[in-house]
Amino acid sequence: MDKSIRLGKSDLHINPIGLGTNAVGGHNLYPNLDEEQGKDVVRTAINQGMNFLDTAFIYGPERSEELVGQVMKEYKREEIILATKGAHEFKGDDVVINNRPEFLKQAVEGSLKRLDTDYIDLFYIHFPDEDTPKDEAVGMLKDLKDQGKIRSIGVSNFSVEQLKEANKDGYVDVIQGEYNLFKREAEKDMLPYTADNQISFVPYFPFASGLLAGKYDENTTFNDLRAKDPLFQGEAFKQNLAKVEQLRPIAEQKGVEIPHIVLAWYLNQPSIDAVIPGAKRASQVIDNLKTLEVSLTDDDISKIDHIFS
Ligand code: NAP
Repeated sequence: MDKSIRLGKSDLHINPIGLGTNAVGGHNLYPNLDEEQGKDVVRTAINQGMNFLDTAFIYGPERSEELVGQVMKEYKREEIILATKGAHEFKGDDVVINNRPEFLKQAVEGSLKRLDTDYIDLFYIHFPDEDTPKDEAVGMLKDLKDQGKIRSIGVSNFSVEQLKEANKDGYVDVIQGEYNLFKREAEKDMLPYTADNQISFVPYFPFASGLLAGKYDENTTFNDLRAKDPLFQGEAFKQNLAKVEQLRPIAEQKGVEIPHIVLAWYLNQPSIDAVIPGAKRASQVIDNLKTLEVSLTDDDISKIDHIFS
C-alpha cells in the first residue's frame, strides 16, 4: 500500500513515518551511544522503506551526519530523502546561532561534505537568530536550491511571525517544531498558517522523549536530558504517566500499541504530513512502522484530544 506524501510544495515524496537520528552519533545529547547500533538503525529504516531521514550538524556535533552519510553510501542515493539542519556556529568554546546568508551557504557546504553527497533533499535553518531578516536567510537557501545543492527549504524552531517573514516569497516547504500531546501550542496559530500555505509541519519530540511510548512507570529513572525535563519530574511525571495509560485501551482495541496511536493521531492534524520519531534500536524503527496500519475514527481522535487537553 503506497501511503507516500508530498512534502510542502516540493517535489519530494516520502513515507510519512520518518526517522529522527539524533541518537545516531549524537554523543553530545546521549551518553554511551554505540555507533554501529546507530548505523544499524538507519540501515533498518531504509530497508523497511522508511526513506525520510532527519539529521543535523549539531548532533554529535557532525558525527550524526557522518554516520548517516556512511550508511547512505550502501544504497542508491535516490532511495533516500535526506533532511539536515544548520545554523550553529562554533566560536571558541561558545556556540552561537547564525542565519546570515553567507554562513548558511557554508553550513550547506559543510553538510554536503560530511554526508558525502551531491545534494541535500531538505535543508532546515535549525534555529532563528535575532538579527538576520528571515526572508534574506531563506533567499540564500533558494539560491542554493536553484544551484541544485538542496531540493527544498525548511526552517525549525521559528515562531509563526518568523515563519511568515521567512515565507514572504512563498519558498518555505517545511517547518519543524516541538509538538506532541503534552505540548500543543502549535495548534493555536502555527498549524492553521502551515495548512493554509502548503507548508508541512514536522513535529519533533513526538514521543516527548519516550514518555508517550507507554513503557515507563514511576520508578523509571533517567541519566540524560530527561533528568531535568519538567515532564519527567515528581508529581507531574506521575500525572503524565496516568494520561498515557488512558491510551492503552484504544491501542488494544486496534491491535497495536500506544506509540502507534500517538503517531497516527499527529498525522490526523492539519499539515502534519510526516513524523520523525527517534530510535535507539532497530526494533523501534520496525515497531514505529505499524502506525501505517492504524486508522483512527473521529471518536478516537476526540477522545485522545480530550485526555491531553
Ligand atoms: P522522541 O521521538 O520524542 O523520542 C524518541 C525516543 O522514544 C527514542 O529514543 C526511544 O527512547 C523512544 N522510542 C522510539 N520509538 C519507540 C517505540 N516504538 N517504542 C518505545 N519507545 C520508543 O524524541 P527525539 O528522538 O529526541 O526527537 C525525534 C527527532 O526529532 C530527533 O531524532 C531529531 O531528528 C529531531 N529533533 C529536532 C529538534 C529541532 O530542534 N529541530 C529537536 C529535537 C529533536 P528510549 O529507547 O531511550 O526509551
